[in-house]
Amino acid sequence: MKQQKRTKIVATLGPASDKPGMLDKMIRAGMDVVRLNFSHGGYEDHKHRADMVRERARANGRQIGVIADLQGPKIRIASFKNKKVFLAEGGAFTLDMSCPDDGGDEERVGVTYKTLAQEVFTDDELLLDDGRIVLKVKEIEGDEIRCKITAGGDLSNSKGINRKGGGLSAAALTEKDKQDIKYAAMIDADYLAISFPRSAADVHLARRLLREAGGSGGIIAKIERAEAMEDLENIMMASDAVMIARGDLGVEIGDEALPPAQKDIINKARDMKLAVITATQMMESMISNPIPTRAEVFDVANAVFDGTDAVMLSAETAAGKHPDVVIGAMTRICGGAEKQTITKRSSHRLDTSFLNIDEAVAMSAMYAANHLHVKAIASLTESGSTPLWMSRIRSGIPIYALSCNIATRRKVTLYRGVYPISFDMNIDDGNPIETNRRVINELRASGTVTEGDYVIIAKGDRIGVAGGTNTMQIVRVGSIPENTDISPDSDNEDIAN
Ligand code: PGA
Ligand code: MN
Repeated sequence: MKQQKRTKIVATLGPASDKPGMLDKMIRAGMDVVRLNFSHGGYEDHKHRADMVRERARANGRQIGVIADLQGPKIRIASFKNKKVFLAEGGAFTLDMSCPDDGGDEERVGVTYKTLAQEVFTDDELLLDDGRIVLKVKEIEGDEIRCKITAGGDLSNSKGINRKGGGLSAAALTEKDKQDIKYAAMIDADYLAISFPRSAADVHLARRLLREAGGSGGIIAKIERAEAMEDLENIMMASDAVMIARGDLGVEIGDEALPPAQKDIINKARDMKLAVITATQMMESMISNPIPTRAEVFDVANAVFDGTDAVMLSAETAAGKHPDVVIGAMTRICGGAEKQTITKRSSHRLDTSFLNIDEAVAMSAMYAANHLHVKAIASLTESGSTPLWMSRIRSGIPIYALSCNIATRRKVTLYRGVYPISFDMNIDDGNPIETNRRVINELRASGTVTEGDYVIIAKGDRIGVAGGTNTMQIVRVGSIPENTDISPDSDNEDIAN
């Protein structure tokens, strides 16, 4: 019987994935979701990539989710007259708000965020280029932040600035982000990722702007500021998913605090019923190398053991030599890690009470599935919340999200162990036996179940209503009488896959 990978792979698109035929190879290698990085490229690039991905997904009989990732208020240095300079350790260097944008030299450089001088203090440590360069603030005078170089090296145009410990308070949504939210809605992105949110209010604002622009996607909060770690629960409560943005987060909280933060965020996400993406430098060396380092193999596997829904690739697939090879390697590593019992065994949640009927049914289904030899779980779902709740419980059993709602089928591409199937619930005249028979046929067609296998079907008796799941049935494949009167699912565009 075919074993699908449960952990989802998010791949960032870019010039490397634009090569002819590459998307097909990436899809076949195990890509589940793509990320459009709004830090690079214009609306036309993103629109074209989203269209191409959906076209190639359809051609491959798959569903691929689309994340639009906003640039956010990343504070950057401006440019140098000669593109880059060398900063010698022990020397002096000034961040100068009034330096012309392309007028930087060995002594000073401009900054994109003009109020920076009012927000830093003497003895602050400023980390440039993801911490490769460290500047210690000695004095601040007017527009000038005068620093001592405590870690030197080459510094080139537009590198990011973080403060150790966080606290630089640029608002999360810039004017560019607000425009990009409209573009994300026009592309019909399945998720909108917010960069550098400080609080739940930033997430609420983004959601409101997305809805006003007509977008229905879920909101992903990127956890990449020290402040976000302090307000984690509120931010998570406001979001549909979180991303552990290890690049910026590591710079702000220190790399030694990063592994505990990853475990904490993943545990909270599972408890609070959010999806979670582990991101950045997972397969970094494969930007140019054909195989990952052992450390990278362990990083991906450990994220799977931690319980992440998805692992993410950035430059590896956007600008690397062989995006499909990286995804193939990641798929293999996830598959290997998923064989470990820890990824499948749930610890009983004796202390939790469920909030509503659908959640109670979802949890009961997982309890039964993990304790009876069930081959598959089928959740007939309008909004996708029942399969999301189910996938918060560790299990090795595939969860099929059967929905006639294409937005739901795309959204669940991010959830661990959940696979979308196109399914019209409204054609059986309310006859539950017929619906069950069609469910089983779909699972048989996907090669998941065979004669005699047990399947759990969760559904509601008010078809097409979100939050209506109130029934769980255990069905044996082959035990439902065949009825040839009802034709199998058509290939109707709208509900394909
Ligand atoms: P980025 O976010 O790739 O947009 O910077 C991820 C991170 O900071 O790790
Ligand atoms: Mn980041």
